[in-house]
Amino acid sequence: LRPVPVDPAELVQEVFLLTEAMAKKRAVRLAHELGGKELTVPADRIRLKQVLINLVQNAVQASPRGGVVVVRALEDKEHLTLEIMDQGPGIAPEEQKNIFLPFFTTKKGGTGLGLAITRKNVLAHHGELVLQSAPGKGSTFRVVLPRAGEGA
Ligand code: ADP
Ligand code: MG
Repeated sequence: LRPVPVDPAELVQEVFLLTEAMAKKRAVRLAHELGGKELTVPADRIRLKQVLINLVQNAVQASPRGGVVVVRALEDKEHLTLEIMDQGPGIAPEEQKNIFLPFFTTKKGGTGLGLAITRKNVLAHHGELVLQSAPGKGSTFRVVLPRAGEGA
């Protein structure tokens, strides 16, 4: 891990540029609520970007036409949390642990590696990847990162 001060707003902008074509094709809107705050967090820029790309891609793929994917940043003294929210079908409780397993996919041609790698990358930052989802209620993935770096 090569942690440097990363501005998540900048990262999200880059990730939206990379995912806007696939979103547009599916008539899904990408939105963010990053405040105008001066948010920075010690992180490996490339690996954190990979995390966001995976979560935004999954969110877009899960979205209905006309849906919106929202990326939000929340901060407290100790953590910066990046939230990726979709209006997709949601994930049943009994399915929630499976989705982080390598090669678990429900998509035609899916690799099932996205979330396994995402989780590994978040843990490498001494962070947490938290899923909040219920069938019919969409999904929210939260990437909780320590602001102090904890020697990351
Ligand atoms: P892949 O995208 O190649 O299928 P992932 O590891 O990224 O692999 O995701 C694994 C599975 O988790 C997906 O196939 C899907 O069933 C489920 N999943 C992931 N993200 C979402 C989401 N935002 N909404 C609903 N299901 C999801
Ligand atoms: Mg994926």
